[in-house]
Amino acid sequence: MKVIDFHVHVGLKEHWHSWVQEFQQSVGSDYYKRYEELSKPEGFAEYIKQHGIEKAIILAEYSPVTTGVVTNDYVLEFCEGRDCFVPLASINHFLTSDPAGELRSLFSRGFKGVKLYPSYHYFYPNDREVYPIYGVAAEHGFPVMVHTGSSVFRGARLKYADPIHLDDVARDFPGLKILLVHGGRGIWYDTAFLLSRIHENVYLEVSGLPPQNLLKYFPDMEKNSSKIVYGSDWPGVVTIGENIERLKRLPISEEALTQILYSNAKRILGP
Ligand SMILES: [Zn+2]
Repeated sequence: MKVIDFHVHVGLKEHWHSWVQEFQQSVGSDYYKRYEELSKPEGFAEYIKQHGIEKAIILAEYSPVTTGVVTNDYVLEFCEGRDCFVPLASINHFLTSDPAGELRSLFSRGFKGVKLYPSYHYFYPNDREVYPIYGVAAEHGFPVMVHTGSSVFRGARLKYADPIHLDDVARDFPGLKILLVHGGRGIWYDTAFLLSRIHENVYLEVSGLPPQNLLKYFPDMEKNSSKIVYGSDWPGVVTIGENIERLKRLPISEEALTQILYSNAKRILGP
């Protein structure tokens, strides 16, 4: 079964705050055990291939207060020349005077979408200040990933992570592909699930959730399998392969698994 991993962080240890590194180490991630190899594009490309992953979506991040900074340039260079990596940009609208213009330029340089971090940057996702970002993504047909739900990282403010605010965005940009990252983790599983049911272009992204618990969080997962997208949140897992295996052991149909692990992501990314 082919797999697309929609949620992968790359970077060097020093890109992240100490508390982020401590968390990644505490889960026992391979990233630290095989750092020299897995922090480099060639080593990581080989690693995902061994785990049967066709493509990994590689995330940039400008979150200086909460997690750290992995620049768009770093991500672009990491992905360069490798079809197995898909670069996704980060825009922190507090750090730029022209978020829309910047995103347009990032798309022209090869980025295939953008991720927003409301609880790390402190804004509500339906804030009109970020609407130009949605406009540019919609115009290009590229997805917007939005962090929803809890975070273990210092400084994250949960009030900005309620997926309900994306209801406005989905209504105002009906053609925009929105991924509710972490599926509203903690207290908003039902909200995130419902939004992905009622909005044609809203998806539930399940990275950072123990795969063996997914049916507990989303009992009707099978019925909504065309709207659920797999992500590992590497290096926040021990190995990506084990994470995928746990998902495969859920009592859901082969067809649903294929959609979640591969075909939904493929459709979102487009040709
Ligand atoms: Zn993540």
